[in-house]
Amino acid sequence: MILEEKVLIVKYGEIALRGNNRKLFVKQLISAIRKNLDKIGDYYVLREQGRLIVRDMNGELDYDTVIPNVICVFGVIDVCPGIRTENQDMQVLKQLALKHLKEHHDTEKTFKVETKRSDKRYPLTSREVSAEIGEYILDNYDGLTVDVHNPDLKLWIELRNDAYIYSKVIRAFGGLPVGSSGKATALLSGGIDSPVAAWLIAKRGVLVNGVYFHTPPYTSERAKQKVKDLAEVVSKYTGEFKLFVVPFTDVQLFLLENVPEDKLTIFLKRAMMRSAEIIAYKENSTGLITGDSVGQVASQTMEGLNAINAVCTMPVLRPLSGLDKQEIVDIAKKIGTFDISVRPYEDCCTVFVAKHPETKPKTSVIDKIESKIYDELIKLIEEASENAEVIEF
Ligand code: ATP
Ligand code: MG
Repeated sequence: MILEEKVLIVKYGEIALRGNNRKLFVKQLISAIRKNLDKIGDYYVLREQGRLIVRDMNGELDYDTVIPNVICVFGVIDVCPGIRTENQDMQVLKQLALKHLKEHHDTEKTFKVETKRSDKRYPLTSREVSAEIGEYILDNYDGLTVDVHNPDLKLWIELRNDAYIYSKVIRAFGGLPVGSSGKATALLSGGIDSPVAAWLIAKRGVLVNGVYFHTPPYTSERAKQKVKDLAEVVSKYTGEFKLFVVPFTDVQLFLLENVPEDKLTIFLKRAMMRSAEIIAYKENSTGLITGDSVGQVASQTMEGLNAINAVCTMPVLRPLSGLDKQEIVDIAKKIGTFDISVRPYEDCCTVFVAKHPETKPKTSVIDKIESKIYDELIKLIEEASENAEVIEF
């Protein structure tokens, strides 16, 4: 029998997880955590009354390796490096609490023991456990005094099926387990904005897939690689990510020849929205996500957004609408997409970018021009969407 073992205690949002969905959410959470951990070693995720416990199957768990791969999973609220023991004997708990404290005590001056006892058959109440262990630590450890109101350090004892001891609570990203709020399709370019937009919506429990419009030879393989790398980063938070790479050269060249240059971007974006919707419908996804931020570029004025949105039948989520560039950059850095996004490969060739783009396009004017080329345009968009390459992470 194992007497003690280093584990990672994972707390998830219990309040959000009610009713029948709860089982499914926990399953999603475990599978996302496992997926990240399977890449780095042999780990076991144990279910334990409102907690998940990560165990290393091959010896002592290394927190520096494990924590970054668990803390990023949406739905995880906190992670706590701690000790697990099957032996809940008071003497054992006292000794392990002291040992844990010696390893984790830094500069704190005061402490308090907090006990949670979900097994009510345990002979002592939570208060009694806290008092006994607190006293034992005071008697056997010099560096700390008790402060029950405002302690620098809290030593947690959780008595569940097994007992757990920890003192450090590390905040995770929060959010909801992916899959708990349906499915949406992100238009993912290689830029800074769209991966942040996809991440923000995924954080709310939406299973996000991505569509990238690739325009070879005008956009390079390296630009495509960038998008693949971004999709992989997002998949670390969500457990999975399906990316559709749509060959868009024919659509773009057709528009270049058939619409006024100053309105080209608007037409291109409308074509992208239409294609993304075709893919979204096939994937049972019920919304689109873009990285638009109001006023950032010519096509992101209210008039531009209106002309683009006019072709969409699904809700289009634009979580960055009201953010400044710097705010978006800050999130991109925090989530690990920034360094990939700023790699110097252009995401669209200058051939397709007007020198003086229209900033206040009228939807009626765009519609009218488009009506003349509509059938051929839609055919090209449908063909491109059908020929999408699918990459799964
Ligand atoms: P990003 O930083 O995400 O590239 P951006 O500021 O460059 O955004 P635009 O180029 O106007 O803005 O694009 C607006 C949105 O349209 C993007 O955030 C993205 O959602 C979508 N988009 C643009 N180009 C592509 C592409 N090649 N493939 C997929 N989606 C695209
Ligand atoms: Mg861009």
